Amino acid sequence: MRATDTVVEARRVMEICNACRYCEGYCAVFPAMELRREFSNADLSYLANLCHDCRGCSYACQYAPPHEFNLNLPRTFAELRAETYREYAWPGPLAALFRRNGVVVSLVVALALAVVLLLTTGLQKPSVIYGLHAGAGAFYAVIPLGLMIAVGLVTFGYALLALAVGYRRFWRDTAAELKHAAGWRAWRRALGDAAALRNLAGGGFGCNDRDESFSTTRRWLHHAIFYGFVSCFAATCVATVYHHVLGWIAPYPLLSVPVVLGMLGGMGLLIGTVGLLILKIVRDPAPGAREVLGADVALLVQLALVAATGLLLLALRDSAAMGALLAVHLGFVLALFLVLPYGKFVHGVYRLGALVHYAAETAPVRSGERVIE
Ligand code: SF4
Ligand code: SF4
Repeated sequence: MRATDTVVEARRVMEICNACRYCEGYCAVFPAMELRREFSNADLSYLANLCHDCRGCSYACQYAPPHEFNLNLPRTFAELRAETYREYAWPGPLAALFRRNGVVVSLVVALALAVVLLLTTGLQKPSVIYGLHAGAGAFYAVIPLGLMIAVGLVTFGYALLALAVGYRRFWRDTAAELKHAAGWRAWRRALGDAAALRNLAGGGFGCNDRDESFSTTRRWLHHAIFYGFVSCFAATCVATVYHHVLGWIAPYPLLSVPVVLGMLGGMGLLIGTVGLLILKIVRDPAPGAREVLGADVALLVQLALVAATGLLLLALRDSAAMGALLAVHLGFVLALFLVLPYGKFVHGVYRLGALVHYAAETAPVRSGERVIE
């Protein structure tokens, strides 16, 4: 991790916190901090990604403004996290996409939508796009299945590769002092913490969104998005098995497994993203970092558009609007895949890495799984 003004500020803040330690029960950041007397750039990168931005420490801090120390841990870590996203991005030149990320994502969405709509209208007759399609293969009459699979595999496969390389870079930098690779116990604990969003519980009562009162709203909204995303992915996997193994061709009945999973996932995504967007409007701006707001909002709007058009497509799939809706929905999905490694989505990858690191360095000593000096 390169030395920047933000890294210097994060080090100053961590040194004050390490002397104070008042917030040590709030989240994993403080116990991890207490394992260190000095903070390397890589340590600060790790700690910043371990922070879940619950803001509890901000309202508890006696050194927050107007104190002369001017300490704002959530904001400092949010700014540092944004720098880590650029630092570990792959390939390196595309790290520039994280700057003015809201504008970048908007342009990619507009471009992807235009390409899919132009290709659909250019390759299909209006009678096909705006016609009624029923029964097996109705979707593929408008956009061929082979094309959908090829574009999906290439773009999603590339996104997974870029995210995996980013994770590897983050891990090599921040976990260099770990004696051995994190074992399965560390992974099990980290995945459990990630699945429960344990650090979004702050000191036990939730986040401080509007003011110093605690609320679990942000945690539940994150759950809705996370499990909504998982449910949509599971729906795609089941549909793939239906098609390629069982020979059952979409569209499937309303009460079939892929449709129910997709419906629940879409509703979870929509409720979670709209809720978090509202929370961003009403929350106290003081502990936040304005520079990261564009990326936050861009990802939430993107996910909301994918979910909303997916649900609309389901509701109107037997009507003449199906063809156009399918093209619009796939345009939003394509844009999401394209910017997955170059937007706020990466926070989940690095946060998981930080949780694995934390689980490893705080685990009891076991043979073959020892961690930190
Ligand atoms: S955030 Fe403030 S109160 Fe909390 S540990 Fe740091 S210096 Fe102490
Ligand atoms: S904002 Fe919350 S998660 Fe981040 S360091 Fe403060 S208490 Fe921990």
